[in-house]
Formats: sequence, structure tokens, C-alpha cells
Amino acid sequence: MVRCPYCGFDGEHSLLKTWRYSWWNVYLYECPQCKGRFRYQVDPEGKKKSYVIRLGSKKKAQVSKVIKCPFCGFESGLNEFKELREPWSYSFYEVRRLECPKCKGVFNYYYTTRVFHREISVPRSRLK
Ligand SMILES: [Zn+2]
Ligand SMILES: [Zn+2]
Repeated sequence: MVRCPYCGFDGEHSLLKTWRYSWWNVYLYECPQCKGRFRYQVDPEGKKKSYVIRLGSKKKAQVSKVIKCPFCGFESGLNEFKELREPWSYSFYEVRRLECPKCKGVFNYYYTTRVFHREISVPRSRLK
């Protein structure tokens, strides 16, 4: 039986579809317990070890509830800051250009879905 790579469930998984990928038979499963999806690749000739591939979750990056101005230390939610342009992507970060309502300092706010990377604020300039 296949074991879910997310929660470890090793009972019956729902088989969504199967296809061939080079010499592999690929099974796309959904875990009934955590709804995680993964591919199970099996060599029909049994020469290679079968293995499980996690499918990346579609989770969107979340802006933290409180953003701190790197100039004056003002802390507030995103809606208190003025967005100076459209958010954009920079490697695994999403970036927003924000202006502090208190000191008019402008900074780039980087945030990410990856838990091991912290969000950071990078000062750009302070408008007088
Ligand atoms: Zn699971
Ligand atoms: Zn400020």
C-alpha cells in the first residue's frame, strides 16, 4: 500500500488518474485524510525502486498581520501602509513597495510561503 508523504496515512487512497512517464507507471493519488496529492511512480519491470513525489501545495504567500516600518518602528496592518506599486515576485519572495503613513519612509516588504525564510523589510528612501 502507498503511504501518504504528508500525513503518513497508509490506507486506501483515491486514485485520480494513471499514465506512463518514460518507463514509469505513474499513479496520481489523493489522500482521504489530509487531501494532499502525490504521484506514485512504479517501474512495471521492477528494476527500479518505486517512489513517491509530493506535488507542491498551491498555498499563497501570506502577508504577516503586523508590518513594521524599518525607519520609525511604526507597526500596523498592511492596509495602513500605502502601496506604491503592484506587488511583484523576486526569487521565492513576493515583494510590495510600501510607504509608512507616519514618517513617509518607503521600503520593500518581502514575504514568502517558505517557513524557513522570514519576511524582511528593506528601506528604500525617506521622503521629506
Ligand atoms: Zn495524507
Ligand atoms: Zn515610519
